[in-house]
Formats: sequence, C-alpha cells, structure tokens
Amino acid sequence: MGRAWLSLWFAVFAVIEGIPAQQTVPPVGGPYNRLVIRGAMMIDGTGAPPSGPVDIVIERNVITQVIPVDPVSLARRGPGFQRPTGDRVIEGENLYVMPGIVDLHTHISDRVPSEYIFKLWLGHGVTSVRVFSIGSKSPDEMVAEKRRLAAPQAIAPRLYVYPFWRGDDPRLSDPERARALVREWKTKGIDGIKISGKPGLYPDVLKAICDEARRQGMGVAVHIGQDGVVPMHALEVARAGATTIEHHYGYAEAAFSDQTVQDLPAHYNYLDEPARFRYTAKVWLETDLEKLMTQVIPELLKSAQETGFVMVPTFAVYEANRDLMRVQTLSWHERFTLPTLMDYWRPNPRHHGAYHYAWASGDEAIWDRMYRRWLEFVNAYKNRGGRVAVGSDAGSAYHLYGFGTIRELEMLERAGFHPLEVIRAATLEGARALGEARLGVIRPGYLADVLVLEENPLADFKVLYGTGVTRFTTDGRAFQKHGLKYTIRDGVVFDARALLRDVEEMVRQAKVRKP
Ligand SMILES: [Zn+2]
Repeated sequence: MGRAWLSLWFAVFAVIEGIPAQQTVPPVGGPYNRLVIRGAMMIDGTGAPPSGPVDIVIERNVITQVIPVDPVSLARRGPGFQRPTGDRVIEGENLYVMPGIVDLHTHISDRVPSEYIFKLWLGHGVTSVRVFSIGSKSPDEMVAEKRRLAAPQAIAPRLYVYPFWRGDDPRLSDPERARALVREWKTKGIDGIKISGKPGLYPDVLKAICDEARRQGMGVAVHIGQDGVVPMHALEVARAGATTIEHHYGYAEAAFSDQTVQDLPAHYNYLDEPARFRYTAKVWLETDLEKLMTQVIPELLKSAQETGFVMVPTFAVYEANRDLMRVQTLSWHERFTLPTLMDYWRPNPRHHGAYHYAWASGDEAIWDRMYRRWLEFVNAYKNRGGRVAVGSDAGSAYHLYGFGTIRELEMLERAGFHPLEVIRAATLEGARALGEARLGVIRPGYLADVLVLEENPLADFKVLYGTGVTRFTTDGRAFQKHGLKYTIRDGVVFDARALLRDVEEMVRQAKVRKP
C-alpha cells in the first residue's frame, strides 16, 4: 500500500473510529441568547426528588424558565401551548439534569498544566471551585487568574479565590490591622481567606478576621493543623465564626473526657509526616464518642445557626491512608493521570503527603477504624440539621482532579447520605458556603450551571467518573456507560467527553516524552 493510500485509509478510519457524532456540534458553545434543554428529568439540587420531564430555558448565563411538560401539566396549559425553542436546543429525552458541582477545597498545582486540571474538572461536572492556591501565585495574581478565566469561552470552572493567610506582614497577627487587611483583600477582588495551621495561637485575630470577612461578604475556610488543635479545637474555631472547617481535625479533641491533649508518645514529632498522619487518625480512637454525638454536635449546630458554618470533610483525600494499594492502582491512572503526578505521589520523605514509605497494615487498620467514627459523626451532624459540603483536595496522594470530586460524592453516600443529600451537598450547600445566593439550584433566576447526564446519578454516582462505569449485557458482555454528556457553566456548553479525550491525549503525549 502506497503512502497516499495509507493516509487515505487513516482519514477514513479516523472518521469511522473518531468523533463524527460529537463533531457535529463544537466541543464548546455559547453562551446562547436562548438555550433550551427539552424534556429532561430534573434533580434540582435542593434535596427535592427528581421531577420531569421539564423544559429548561437559559438566556445567556441565567436560567429563566423551568416548565414541566408532563401530560398533566401539558393538559393544564391547553392546546395553544408551544414548547420553548432557542438558538440551541438540547433534546433531553431520557436525560437527567442537575446543577453543576461545587468543589470547595481545591489547589491548582503548577506541577501540571492548569488546562489539564480544568478539563478534568469540567469533564466531571465541576463548574465552581474554591481555590486556596494556584502554584506559588500571590493573592493579586490569583485574582488576575480568576478574571482571565471569567471570560465566557475560557475552558475552566468559575474560580473563588481564598488565598492563605500567611507571610511576614505584621498585619497578619494583629486584630485591628488584620481587619484592615481583610478590607484591602476585598477591594482587590479576593473572595475569602484560607487559614491553616494554628488559628489558636491568635484567637483574637481569628475572630477579627472572621467578623470582618462576614461584614465584607467574604468567607473564611479553616484547616486546623494537628499541631493547632490545642489550644483551639473545632468547636472554638466554629464559634469564632469560620465559614467552613476543612478535613477532620479538631472534632475529636472537642470531645475529650479524660484528657485535654492527645495521648502522644514522647518521641512524637509533628514534622515527621508518617507519625503525624498515624497519630492524627489515632485521636479519633481516644475521643469520647458519647460526648462527640451529644455535646459537640449540638454546639456546632448552635454556631452554625449564628454563622452559617459548613463542614467540608474531604473524606476522599485520606483514602491512601486506609488502603494505599487501592489508590495506587485506580483504574483511571493509566489513561488520565500524568506521569509527573504519579512520580510526585510515590512515597518520598521530601514530598508533602507522600509519607507512605513507612506505612503498614496496622496504620491502615487505625485509619479504617477512624473512618467509621468520622463518617458516622458527619452523617449524624447532617441528620440533625448541620450543613455538609463537597471538597476534594485533589492533587495529592493518588487523588486525581475531577475523579477525586466524584469519589467524595461516593464517600458521603457511604457515610449514610441519601443520594439526594449527596447531590445537595455537592451543589446547594457548596453555593451557600460561597455566599452565592443564585448558584447550586436549577431554578429561574439562578446562574446557568447545569449538568446534562445520560444516566441517573441517583442510581449510581460511578457513572460520573470520566472512565464511565462497566456494565454487562445479559449474556455477560461488558460495555462502558458514561453519565455526563454536557457540562454547562454560565450558559456555556462543554462537551464533557471531548474535554476528557483532550486529557487522555495530554497523558499519552507525556508518556511518549517520558516513557
Ligand atoms: Zn488543601
């Protein structure tokens, strides 16, 4: 076969095997003057059951109508009723829609191209992220990045920037001057503040930051370091006015009965990461469970009523600790994880979060027992009226962007959340934590962040993974089922599968360069 024939053959092959079906519409389109999703089943994000079919009208970046078109509603509307139309119509028969996912705990690493991270996020339905760091960018540079990505055609979720409260500016540790700094950050366009480490060293400063942030309509996310839970545990941080508490630190310490500090051995050293992560799980086995459930939860709820406090457990980021082999061999690494990340995650004393070089079955057992208590605690908190939201903290310990967010949905379901509660945590609760009154619900007047799904996510969250989920025919043949078809952010329609094909291509090329 001559060279010309060969290339012709490849061209034909590409048409057959490639992307003709998706190629009929561009991978990114809009925003449209009128975009209509017709006849889909709606999960609105509030926890209400699915309802449909509905026609959803989106004008530019706002949902303007949600019209039930079931037989009873149509009969009521009478024979003159015309189904809405627009300059783009997505036929939604047999499809589901839900609000875009809000991921409240993210870092944009500069170890990989940000395009890779953004496409993984959008490819998994993540339309808004609260971001604590963008490589080593300054707060000003983070705002600039957010503005750059706010352009309609930018292939990225909406960013809410919460830079770390750190550095050597003396204003960071003085209450009155801290207030001034919060106001200054507000004028720069910063959305909130991330506090990590030892908020208890400066309890008066924490209070001032939280109070001023609230006045300015900003949020405060607190990660209490395991070296900071004494003197300030989670109850005190919530009382001080934190918008969210990240991870699991500080709750167990709030429920001690026979001690005020954790029972740590004399040789413990916080900066020794294997020890840190071993003992941070152990503290959950020292806590007084009765007190945790009957005293800590009501106290947290009291703070929540006053401040709107939201819990962001980030369950999934710690899974390496209870089953390292599982996270190392996740089925998506091969196609979707860049080799740079796999290298960085490999056990290494010089990399944060890569402390598994000294990890044994006993450590995993402690984490497994800790998880049982922690999952139970978060579920009980939700059941008594507490608000819990989704944060992935992806990017470390084999926890990949996008996939990690969906895994967090699964973890909430394992904690005991009904799938509708899981979706509410991933949408409405996230939006509330961001202080966005018009986000996280499919309702007229709300921002047009909508996911169009080919599968019902309530039946199986795994269909949201970029790899899809393997199903079987009755005669035992395997096939892949993909859930997410379109991710709509601000009225812009992204072909989710096309974005993920780009990611796969990036990974393929990176492996050619570095086998
Ligand atoms: Zn983090």
